[in-house]
Amino acid sequence: MRIGLTGGIATGKSTVSRLLEARGVRIVDADVIARDVMNPGQPLLAAVAARFGPEFLLPEGGLDRRRMAEHIFNRPEERQALNAIVHPAIRAEIRRQVDAHEAADPEAIVAADIPLLYESGLEDLYEKIVVVYVPRPVQLTRLMRRDGLTPEQAEGRLNAQLDIEDKKRRADYVIDNAGTPEETRHQVDRLLESLRAR
Ligand code: ADP
Repeated sequence: MRIGLTGGIATGKSTVSRLLEARGVRIVDADVIARDVMNPGQPLLAAVAARFGPEFLLPEGGLDRRRMAEHIFNRPEERQALNAIVHPAIRAEIRRQVDAHEAADPEAIVAADIPLLYESGLEDLYEKIVVVYVPRPVQLTRLMRRDGLTPEQAEGRLNAQLDIEDKKRRADYVIDNAGTPEETRHQVDRLLESLRAR
């Protein structure tokens, strides 16, 4: 069974993902994949160099992330061009890893941890979607604390994503992570009971 795990920045996806993994769920991490597709030797980099220029690659062959981030900042068309190259590769790799887990164990619950699942329109690929939720003020506080941001910086990060209330409404299951870690663990256990009962 394949589920999608998502939420907003700092709502607790990584925390919940670790709890799921400890309970036997196989995790596919989209952030890790997004980094790996830009490592030296990946076929994608040739396409990036062809579109943006070889100066966007580092001497060792990987992407010059800082240079690219500066280049696409405030240039929506350039950002879109990059996404058009990168997103299909990320999607294909997520799919490959999910398929591999299912092939290895047809009974497994496989969770694809995808922070921008709704923003990227990927909900149809999963049987059930779990949203890790906290109310926005909690999200803001945890984000500032974790990443050492000012309120303005944290607001900016939140505003770049779909609102957490929208994600909550669209979810099949909601883990409310505003309480204690113990309360979150209980919800994860209940979630797995209901997924395994299907
Ligand atoms: P995400 O992966 O969604 O960005 P994290 O799992 O990193 O979010 O959680 C964001 C921050 O909030 C982290 O610093 C984490 O330690 C903290 N955190 C997560 N769950 C709780 C909780 N139930 N109570 C207090 N702090 C929490």
